[in-house]
Amino acid sequence: MKQYLFAKDILMQRTNSQAQIEKARRFIPGGVNSPARAFGGVGGDPVVIDRGEGARLYDIDGNEYIDYIGSWGPHILGHRHPAVIDAIEQALKKGTSFGAPTEMETEMAELLCEAVASLEKVRMVNSGTEATMSAIRVARGYTGRDVVIKFAGCYHGHVDSLLVQAGSGALTLGVPSSPGIPQGCTKDTIVLEYNNVEQLQEAFEERGSEIACIILEPVVGNMGTVIPDDAFLQATRILCTAHDSVLIFDEVMTGFRVAYGGAQQRLNVTPDMTTLGKIIGGGMPVGAYGGRADIMNVVSPAGPVYQAGTLSGNPVAMASGLATLKVLRDENPYPKLEQLSEKLAHGLSEAATKAGLPHQMAQIGSMMTLFFNEHPVRDFSVSSKNDTKRFAKYFHGMLDKGIYLPCSQYEAMFVSAAHTEDDINQTIQIAEEVLANLN
Ligand SMILES: *Cc1c(COP(=O)(O)O)cnc(C)c1O
Repeated sequence: MKQYLFAKDILMQRTNSQAQIEKARRFIPGGVNSPARAFGGVGGDPVVIDRGEGARLYDIDGNEYIDYIGSWGPHILGHRHPAVIDAIEQALKKGTSFGAPTEMETEMAELLCEAVASLEKVRMVNSGTEATMSAIRVARGYTGRDVVIKFAGCYHGHVDSLLVQAGSGALTLGVPSSPGIPQGCTKDTIVLEYNNVEQLQEAFEERGSEIACIILEPVVGNMGTVIPDDAFLQATRILCTAHDSVLIFDEVMTGFRVAYGGAQQRLNVTPDMTTLGKIIGGGMPVGAYGGRADIMNVVSPAGPVYQAGTLSGNPVAMASGLATLKVLRDENPYPKLEQLSEKLAHGLSEAATKAGLPHQMAQIGSMMTLFFNEHPVRDFSVSSKNDTKRFAKYFHGMLDKGIYLPCSQYEAMFVSAAHTEDDINQTIQIAEEVLANLN
């Protein structure tokens, strides 16, 4: 069995990382190309990565980590899975982009439609953000309505109309949550509480005929892991059907993660449209949106709703994504992922209990969050009261002992098919040490 490089009692050195981030800050805003990486919620400097292999990451100081981020979701097979690397190498031999149809695009579309119940037609794009932005446009174009319902704590990428906070009352206008977004962009967005059926019913009673769509994470990952009540998810379906609104499941994170067919398969609710990303690119920049054929037929050039992309369906990205999805389809790692994840969730929760720390563990498939919170986290009003100071200490304690967790209490951690029983045991043991010293 492989020995771990880190020595548990010696403080990990990351001087190369620190120097590199200082340099990066001179040329890149905040030194990072996406704020989620910046350690904003936990303090300290981000780790600069040199390479990944299986369930491991290696930084530019030579430190080794067990990785529970997997590039924030895509690497369900771990880093550098041989089938994925091979497919990318084969694609590279033919060229990197043609701006013309290829066979692989149709293979990808067919595979997605076979796997995900709600998909009859699908369009490839280059990120999750593009997928949700386009899906909203299509839902609006299809219904001829403007109003979008989203839920506080759900993240759908940095789309103008979806970067919005709840106003003071439930049914007031959404307020942009970033400078640079005009009020006008969010005035048709209603922000409601997740898991609140009454609020949702009320919104439809008052404005049903104006509502183009509901968009939601059918299992939330972006306020930490929050699993919906069955009645809530059912209500989204029933209300959209009753009011001819489009139900959009944003499965950018949960697609091929909580089950091969996504959260819609696992929780048995079929939306009208679905957005995908992360896993379907196998580590390359890919997103997709799709749904019922009658809805997707409004997309240009089949219909009048414009949406385009120079690099959409890129052959290298398709090769990477297809190879990943075929491994998932043919090898079915989901039972093993479930078993390892349950074991990890149980172990982390026990460790927190032993340390006397109030906490909640939410786990579904290979995504989970250990919340430092006395109350069950069902919506953003509870999640926003997590003890983030305690999380920061836990995070840094784990990092210094070679466990790479998401650098925010409001994110899910992921287990991959490359993780072993031994990795999980190591992680639990380290968590016991770290959590015992948090008070
Ligand atoms: C990551 C994520 C997005 C955004 O995807 P990007 O590829 O980062 O643009 C959208 N929705 C959900 C649910 C996500 O987890």
